[in-house]
Amino acid sequence: MKTRVIAIDGPAGAGKSTVAKDLAKKLKFIYLDTGAMYRALTLKALRRRIPLDDQKALVSLLRDTNIEIKSQKDGRLSIILDNEDVTPLIRTNKVTENVSYVAKMPKVRTIMAGLQRKFGKKNNIVVEGRDIGTVVFPNAEKKFYLDADFKERVRRRYKELKEIDKNIIETKIKRDLKERDTKDLTRKVAPLKKAEDAIYLDTTNLTIEEVVQDIIKEING
Ligand code: C5P
Repeated sequence: MKTRVIAIDGPAGAGKSTVAKDLAKKLKFIYLDTGAMYRALTLKALRRRIPLDDQKALVSLLRDTNIEIKSQKDGRLSIILDNEDVTPLIRTNKVTENVSYVAKMPKVRTIMAGLQRKFGKKNNIVVEGRDIGTVVFPNAEKKFYLDADFKERVRRRYKELKEIDKNIIETKIKRDLKERDTKDLTRKVAPLKKAEDAIYLDTTNLTIEEVVQDIIKEING
């Protein structure tokens, strides 16, 4: 049986995760958060003190790593790294600041893309990331590129992170987001880019529900 793939790309804070999660629930598809996979590998590399510019070491680490993404009944995801639940740990500042170094390694990306395609062969998925419509699933049934004003993306990230860390300051989030945007947009391999056939959605003034409804209309369209 041919499986169905809905691809969602866009920068951090554009609403991808929340939208993808909700959409997957409504379509009864599985939600695949590819950023979580890069984050899990980054966490393991940091713990092992592997230099993040050492591609060979990162590849061999990844080959020796098992990353599972499990959907809970309430729609939340658990990220399991070598049998350990690392769900909150992959969202820490340290991982967020370093993940783009790991994600820019071409050979790491090839392996990750292979794992993502394998998952998509077995399941109907809503898959979210930076290179999904352009590289990983160029033949996805529908592709969306979610975006929002920088100020709004900072505001969303601040709200989200404030719940985890009461001492977080907005200027730091602004700086980190800008840096990560630049790295993701300018890297040589699979940079963040709207696929030509992706539908562009500016979510700045939309609620999650409105974005999900727009997407469903396009899918059923
Ligand atoms: O989506 P999230 O913010 O969790 O992604 C973390 C980082 O992982 C991104 O900033 C990007 O560097 C990398 N990433 C990627 N390709 C993907 C998903 C995430 O390079 N498909």
